[in-house]
Amino acid sequence: MSPNPDPAPGVMPAAFFGHGNPMNALEVNRYTAAWRAFGEAVPRPRAILVVSAHWYINATAVTAMPRPRTIHDFYGFPDELFGVQYPAPGLPELAEEVGDVVHPTWVGADVDSWGIDHGTWSVLVHAFPDAAIPVVQLSINADKDSGYHLELGRALAPLRERGVLVVASGNVVHNLGSMDWTLTDDGYDWAQRFDEEARARMLTDPGGVATLDGHRDFRTAVPTPDHFIPALYLAGLAAASPGGDVDVLVDGYAYGSLSMTAYTLGLPRPDATGQGGSPQPPAGLPPDASNI
Ligand code: ZN
Repeated sequence: MSPNPDPAPGVMPAAFFGHGNPMNALEVNRYTAAWRAFGEAVPRPRAILVVSAHWYINATAVTAMPRPRTIHDFYGFPDELFGVQYPAPGLPELAEEVGDVVHPTWVGADVDSWGIDHGTWSVLVHAFPDAAIPVVQLSINADKDSGYHLELGRALAPLRERGVLVVASGNVVHNLGSMDWTLTDDGYDWAQRFDEEARARMLTDPGGVATLDGHRDFRTAVPTPDHFIPALYLAGLAAASPGGDVDVLVDGYAYGSLSMTAYTLGLPRPDATGQGGSPQPPAGLPPDASNI
């Protein structure tokens, strides 16, 4: 149960998902069960706006094509994973709306470069398996600092009142160079310390997530910021929401150096029943060559 009051009627929840191994797209485990329960618990959205760790470029942009392609942006996984399609339509007018709500921040419209990457579809195949709701991605501008991303997340808040489900997908702790495939459901001490501090802030002072770069484990937990930054978007949305109302959807660690913690905003934890943790890896795949 959430200690906070229910959100105002008509305000769409939001979420951050720790997506982990892309094989989660094909698995049924306690993470994917929680993602599915989330999709079943939210009101049917008009569209889904996703901030994925895997669209990390030197600009702030949104996908604006009517038929975004499914992108398989990883290496070394089985053919079955490369065969996954998530044929959700785009919604070019939402791309325009995003530009309006974040004004004066400039947002480019991408009509032909990106699409729906695995940070997005590995979660949405479980949360919204019919792929019928339009999906728009918002890029992560790699040139900008944490404060920029927190504020951009805050600026997206009005979209929650317009039927848009804002979803962020990354991993709060994500160090591919330290990954050990044999530690399927374990986290190193530093991974746990950092994830727990991030959780404390997300639940009580979401704006404080933007200053986690001062934490002693930051450089180890976040050697590159691409997977951490999506959490700043949920933190920004939470900071813009009176009462906060953040809950942990599911949590855990994978391969030593990933945290799988997921958060919801404006939605008490839905019931999810799932067994087992993160997937076993493909044989012989070097973690830091996987782009997960
Ligand atoms: Zn990833």
